[in-house]
Amino acid sequence: MKKQNSYNWNMVFFLSIIPLIGFVGTGIYVYHNGIVWQEPLLLLVFWFLSGMGITMGYHRLFAHKSYETTNFIQWVLMILGSLAFENTILKWSSDHRKHHTHPETENDPYSIKEGFWHAHIGWILKNTPEEKNKIIGVKDLEKKSVVKFQNKYYFHIGILFGMVLPLCIGLLYGRPLGAILWGTFLRITLVHHATFFINSLCHYVGARPYDSNSTARDSWFVSLFTFGEGYHNYHHKFQWDYRNGIKWFAFDPSKWIINFLSYFGFAYNLKKAKEYLIWESRIESIKNQLNDKLSSATDSIANLYISKVELLYNQSQDIFTIWKELDLKYNKSISVDKLKNKEIIKKIRNINKENINKVKLIKIDLDQILLNIKRGKLVLD
Ligand SMILES: [Zn+2]
Ligand SMILES: [Zn+2]
Repeated sequence: MKKQNSYNWNMVFFLSIIPLIGFVGTGIYVYHNGIVWQEPLLLLVFWFLSGMGITMGYHRLFAHKSYETTNFIQWVLMILGSLAFENTILKWSSDHRKHHTHPETENDPYSIKEGFWHAHIGWILKNTPEEKNKIIGVKDLEKKSVVKFQNKYYFHIGILFGMVLPLCIGLLYGRPLGAILWGTFLRITLVHHATFFINSLCHYVGARPYDSNSTARDSWFVSLFTFGEGYHNYHHKFQWDYRNGIKWFAFDPSKWIINFLSYFGFAYNLKKAKEYLIWESRIESIKNQLNDKLSSATDSIANLYISKVELLYNQSQDIFTIWKELDLKYNKSISVDKLKNKEIIKKIRNINKENINKVKLIKIDLDQILLNIKRGKLVLD
């Protein structure tokens, strides 16, 4: 019997040889042959496309079902995801759903509790006991023809679009070797580690504004090289939301493309967390952080702030109760009448705006108290 956690040497070989050829091979090639503009362009285009196949396709469409789209786009995303060489939709989604259902436990394939290395790449390189490696929790996906097709021809699709296609493009301008080094090996290395960083760095660097108990974190910086998936604390809290970065300016190309497609009717049933749920989680998160700090603070600090925190928290709860009732009431009255609905949607928008402003003020006060406690300040306005 194989020793648990011993390394799968085939996997170690492939995940070492690809970056080795990607970096060293491309470096030697550039040293002897220089660079033509088509090569970095090939890298960027194929990196972006395969990255989108993973975030927009594997992750948000298949694993989380956070939106729906046409058959054609599903097939395109399946092909783009295949050229990232990150296994099939079924295996990827099964692992990912385990990660969300049992976060940070032994049933989480890439639990950060087992260390940065394990969460990043170690879990792929190690032999996983058969019981834990089973593809489960994806019955809904198994029925899809696009998923069935990929399961049968995964390597064929990956090699055709991820290797042969860049090679053919390279033949067009007379540098096939350069094209495969830039467009395949270097590109796969980058897309692999961008995805791996979501499991490692996104559970390591950044803030926890939506769930202070989760190891998942939000970082705009990490989102820049993880195709917008750096807003991971939000994602773990609202995994079914098609957005990761919820602010309009938050770097999240998958969100922007899904929005663009939905504008033309090619993406629909976009799932989005309600504003009151988002703000409720923000208040809960800061309240938990305050409770932690207050439980270990000096008596003078605890005596000064505990009642103030309770008061502000209770005020926020009153706002949420009324906000939810109003939201429910107006959402119930949404009918088939488009003109009437416009009015209702406007009303809901105004209710959200009004309540966000109220809760924001409470959040500012709670943030200030947290800062004061961290600095050991005794100030109460
Ligand atoms: Zn995660
Ligand atoms: Zn996810």
